[in-house]
Amino acid sequence: MSYIIAEPCIGTKDTACVDACPVDCIHPKKDADGYEAAPQLYIDPVECIDCGACVPVCPVTAIFVLDELPEKWKDYERINTEHFQK
Ligand code: SF4
Repeated sequence: MSYIIAEPCIGTKDTACVDACPVDCIHPKKDADGYEAAPQLYIDPVECIDCGACVPVCPVTAIFVLDELPEKWKDYERINTEHFQK
């Protein structure tokens, strides 16, 4: 399992989660190529250690553990995973 970033991140991309993540698995970072073009941030499901540190720092409540991902945003599991398969 991993944590998932869902729709509220679109257009927000606050990146407080990037700073909070102890294993550096949330991308793209603000200074990375592709940050401006990315619609949202993504969590690498392979690297995520399920610590939950990113959840409380998100100003728009966009991050959920997979079990609690709202049904309307269930596609975001695939969307996060696919970002790292490009
Ligand atoms: Fe990073 Fe922890 Fe959030 Fe996973 S749950 S993305 S390891 S801060």
